Amino acid sequence: MPYRRCGRSGLQLPAISLGLWQNFGEKDTLGNCRTLLRTAFDAGVTHFDLANNYGPPPGAAEETFGQLYQSDFRPYRDELIISSKAGYGMWPGPYGDGGSRKYLMASLHQSLRRTGLEYFDIFYHHRPDSDTPLEESMTALADMVRQGKALYVGLSSYSPDETRRACELLRELGTPCLIHQPKYSLLVRDPEHGLLDVLAEEGVGCIAFSSLAQGVLTDKYLQGVPPDSRAARQLGNGAIEESQLNPANIEKARQLNELAQQRGQTLAQLALAWVLRDPRMTSVIIGASKPSQITDAVQCLDKPAFTADELARIEQILGGAGA
Ligand code: NDP
Repeated sequence: MPYRRCGRSGLQLPAISLGLWQNFGEKDTLGNCRTLLRTAFDAGVTHFDLANNYGPPPGAAEETFGQLYQSDFRPYRDELIISSKAGYGMWPGPYGDGGSRKYLMASLHQSLRRTGLEYFDIFYHHRPDSDTPLEESMTALADMVRQGKALYVGLSSYSPDETRRACELLRELGTPCLIHQPKYSLLVRDPEHGLLDVLAEEGVGCIAFSSLAQGVLTDKYLQGVPPDSRAARQLGNGAIEESQLNPANIEKARQLNELAQQRGQTLAQLALAWVLRDPRMTSVIIGASKPSQITDAVQCLDKPAFTADELARIEQILGGAGA
């Protein structure tokens, strides 16, 4: 596993990280969750990504992780980077959503209780909140670090302008922003329109989510919808549903799959290697329902480079999708 430096910080992250948004909830067996985490860690995936609302239901993924941390991972705490987040609706009333100091601090304490951790390595504001002064949210993040409850802080889904302002504030507060977590894939190219430039200038790392487009950028939907797939399972909580599978994207996946085969890769490997081709990217967070998907993903690192012809062919297939 290659480890890549996170912006201009001292921290290195594995090129492939594992996210627990789906597949670690109440419907999932503890045995499978254990195998997923162990498979990842044994492959050098030292970073597990959580949030207060991961499950389903919200909170369940942190509880599952907490159980497995106690039984399996506690001796390896110093070899692990564990993140969590707050920003989306988590509990009823005015204090369980957004970016107030009240919400962020209360949610951090809840996440520490659910996981049984003494601290998170990275704590994120999960999304910008235009109703809360940015100073308030960033001061809350910086105070988490001062209190020893987080080692580093990050931002997710902030626009380039919001990111720049947040980075300035965090720097003034003595807690530089470590990392930004945007959605980035062959099908969602938004970070190329300003965000990656801002992050490079600010010395902030970048870790992509949904780089397999929740499974669309794998070979799994090319012959229809398998019954055990995320699209068929009706998980809610933002998980892709069968009705959202877009035939145009499936056709792009079919053509990309042919290119992947010519490169001697799976489509999942091509999609992940493509995100990691940009040196401004620190890591990509995959989701997985089966251990074999983690093994598949990690092998993307066997063929990381693209020729100019391959990159041109990708753009042709995407039809200028985002660039
Ligand atoms: P992906 O795009 O990697 O999708 C993961 C899903 O794709 C898997 O659960 C599996 O679905 C399928 N899959 C994965 N590998 C393969 C493979 N090799 N072959 C076939 N199918 C495969 O990521 P997610 O959307 O799950 O997001 C990853 C992580 O990113 C989350 O867990 C979370 O940590 C983070 N995230 C952050 C967000 C934010 O706002 N900051 C928002 C969303 C995610 P199946 O069940 O069908 O097998």
